[in-house]
Amino acid sequence: MRLSRHFLPVLKESPSDAQIVSHKLMLRAGLVRQTAAGIYAWLPLGQRVLQKIAQIVREEQDRAGAIELLMPTLQSADLWRESGRYDAYGPEMLRITDRHDREMLYGPTNEEMITAIFRDSARSYRDLPRTLYHIQWKFRDEVRPRFGVMRGREFLMKDAYSFDIDEAGARHSYNRMFVAYLNTFARMGLRAIPMQADTGPIGGDLSHEFIVLAPTGESEVFYHSNWEKPAELSSVDFDDVAGLQSIVSTYTADYAATDEKRDEAAEAAAGDALRQSRGVEVGHIFYFGEKYSKPMNLRVQGPDGAEVIPHMGSYGIGVSRLMGAIIEASHDDNGIIWPDAVAPYKVGIINMRVDDEACTAAADDLYAKLQAAGVETLYDDRDERGGAKFATMDLIGIPWQIVIGPKGLAKGVVELKRRATGEKEELSIEDALAKVSA
Ligand code: ATP
Ligand code: MG
Repeated sequence: MRLSRHFLPVLKESPSDAQIVSHKLMLRAGLVRQTAAGIYAWLPLGQRVLQKIAQIVREEQDRAGAIELLMPTLQSADLWRESGRYDAYGPEMLRITDRHDREMLYGPTNEEMITAIFRDSARSYRDLPRTLYHIQWKFRDEVRPRFGVMRGREFLMKDAYSFDIDEAGARHSYNRMFVAYLNTFARMGLRAIPMQADTGPIGGDLSHEFIVLAPTGESEVFYHSNWEKPAELSSVDFDDVAGLQSIVSTYTADYAATDEKRDEAAEAAAGDALRQSRGVEVGHIFYFGEKYSKPMNLRVQGPDGAEVIPHMGSYGIGVSRLMGAIIEASHDDNGIIWPDAVAPYKVGIINMRVDDEACTAAADDLYAKLQAAGVETLYDDRDERGGAKFATMDLIGIPWQIVIGPKGLAKGVVELKRRATGEKEELSIEDALAKVSA
């Protein structure tokens, strides 16, 4: 994409209404604009990153055996009366009345809807186990929307729902998602710690929040210092019940808990290794048994002919919140440092002198070659000072930057810069092309 034809409204000044660095940078880098409290328009650059994050989430859901569908944002109140949550949910639910006076709502989550959809077609134990997911906008009328997309009112969530014949099956489905989450966040360059989390009124002990440590996070968390070491996951067989359980056991061996689930004995055992921090909740997984299947009358025929009530779990990832979390974890004074996997463009070309024929010819040619090679490239062909171009590329965090100027060209070289390290090297255009295309 040529920057001269792009829509990339960057801000020079730090917006005064933004309190945390990710929110400031998202506004400055032209990723989002607020259109109402807690509601954001995703500008072209933000939309590209959002889609990359969603795609990683999707690929890891698919790999873990989950199946994608798409449910609507608007739901009928009657559906929620079946589970008893319509009255229980409170003012966070945006309630709407249509022209026929039918009560509707903008979905804050989809347990009821997926249970109804599954109920309509599942007949026997052969229809189990299944995990279904979608990536869809949610609305929660948060009391205090803040920190930009971190706590919005409208936000993009991946929510998955599992259906199993019994508790043991549900445990395996839970483990699949647990491991899928480890892989998902690792691919985005994030270390999200699975922490014992509150199951609320539902009870049971099977709930984990995936928390990215950040001083500006809203959650107070406690963990063993072992979590500070990077952890690597090798390839996973999602059908291997024991293997998956063993991975989950490894990842839950070291103490990590949110404020509500602090465990005095475990903290005493951790001793000097106990750490306290703040964190951002990027995912939350939940096993809740028959909580929805029972009141909503979901039944299937078991292998012995008797009716069984499927056990369910639900699994959320804050797709739009993740953008904020990634920026909190990866930025410097000059701007965002996108991990390659979610960068809006992989390569930026800076033409230092658009009025210089040789420079423009070389930059145009390099741009054409990168396009042909399928490398996502942002080409700064604007008639602007070099300094302003450097600042923009750094602000928007493009991982590889190729600078083409008259002096270098005379020597037959361009400058290749790595955003993350600031490392620069001079090399021929061919070598630069080969390196960034690799
Ligand atoms: P929180 O405790 O942060 O309010 P929650 O526990 O209500 O979140 P879940 O229902 O578990 O959220 O939703 C799944 C995921 O959706 C969360 O882990 C979080 O990443 C994301 N999420 C929830 N609320 C918001 C919001 N208001 N804005 C952006 N993302 C959100
Ligand atoms: Mg939660």
